[in-house]
Amino acid sequence: MTTDILPAELRGHISQEELREAVKQGYIRTVMTVVPDMLGRLKGKRVGGLALLERLDEGHGIRVGEACSYLLATNAGMEPLDGFDLTSWDDGFHDMGVNAEWSTLRVLRYMPGMALVHCDAVDTDGAPIEVAPRQMLRRQVERLAELGYDVQVGFESEFVLYNGDQPFVDRNIDYELDLPPRMGDFLSHLEDALPDAGVQVEAFKGEGAAGQIEATFPRGGVMEACDNYTVYKHAVKHLAHRHGLTASFMAAPETGLASGLHLNLSLWQDGQPLFVRPSHRALPTEAMTYSIAGLIAALPHLMPLLAGNTNAYKRYATSHSFAPQFMNWGPDNRSCAIRVTGHGPSSRLENRIPGADANPYLAAAATLAAIAHGLDEKLPLPNPCLGDGYTNDTFTPLPRDLAEALADFRHGFTARDLLGLPVVTHYGRAAQAEIDEQHREVTDVERRRLTLA
Ligand code: GLU
Ligand code: MG
Repeated sequence: MTTDILPAELRGHISQEELREAVKQGYIRTVMTVVPDMLGRLKGKRVGGLALLERLDEGHGIRVGEACSYLLATNAGMEPLDGFDLTSWDDGFHDMGVNAEWSTLRVLRYMPGMALVHCDAVDTDGAPIEVAPRQMLRRQVERLAELGYDVQVGFESEFVLYNGDQPFVDRNIDYELDLPPRMGDFLSHLEDALPDAGVQVEAFKGEGAAGQIEATFPRGGVMEACDNYTVYKHAVKHLAHRHGLTASFMAAPETGLASGLHLNLSLWQDGQPLFVRPSHRALPTEAMTYSIAGLIAALPHLMPLLAGNTNAYKRYATSHSFAPQFMNWGPDNRSCAIRVTGHGPSSRLENRIPGADANPYLAAAATLAAIAHGLDEKLPLPNPCLGDGYTNDTFTPLPRDLAEALADFRHGFTARDLLGLPVVTHYGRAAQAEIDEQHREVTDVERRRLTLA
């Protein structure tokens, strides 16, 4: 194997032919065939390069393997949950098919000898599984296309770097450029590794909390942005471990500390941007007004897809944390859930609701569904929030916890109308299981407060 001395041109996205050549020459040994699970984690197998080529030669086409269907029915701890229509103990957690989307094939130079291809979970006949995150997003991209719109998304994501059980630096490191060398080395390693893995990052910066780092990504097609983001997260965690550190993408990794996954989004028609305004604080365009109206109207009812665990709601619990507390919008206003920002072709809406833990495919699917709703119904623009969004309680508060969010998701009409009953039933069940698990759990905080009481 010569996997540690890859030719310089073997980087980023590659074609199937390039894979074939690289496997034959011993540069690529293994291909990870990955599907996102309900939490947005990449799950899959490490398939031997030669075995994969053989499979292709046998004419299996895009079907690169099978995986246990429980990948779409597990919690954070990989326990198989019951109560799903898709799969259960009753049918023995049957297999689902794994179909590669070959245009996403890439080399991961940070894992010598490794390539990765994003895949779709399909049923054994090859039909899409409607509750699979990539399929849910695909549906909403198609819905917007039916209405005549293309969408571009750029993520902005935060994580906290830990050394053992403490944030790596014990101070606010916002915009700090003299980061401790070990942290700087880790970021340099990432800056090298990511473009080599086909992931462009616009910028890294120290963020406004202990050990917190922010990454911003250029805008692009939404499926591609989500695929890239999952690889980004994989690389961050993998390289952090190599540096003896841990990266946490929890929404609230510490009390009062908030990490977000903001979605910057614009609509386009025939290659032309529809959100263009002359300046940052200028009034929204027509397409923008319907989009904002749709987001404000629908997102409160879709929250389990943006904030799917109990911790995610603790991110909204602290005033003036830069995470939103009310369902409001405002021109270049970081105290709002939806911020209208940028100018010229970079004019965009920033959905600040998802936490760093969010599954990007689900958060994007919910966001697009809400926008399509606003455009389709030509909803009227609600009043903007001018000034401090944390102290203006004329707007609807975000749900206080997952239970409140779930009640609305399950029993309201909006989620069913926009996403269909199977999606609501499936993710409603997942949220319920999360609530039930937390409900039982005795925590350190309870012990600390009550042992001697
Ligand atoms: N940390 C904030 C959040 O959780 C965002 C800070 C920022 O504006 O980048 O959303
Ligand atoms: Mg930030």
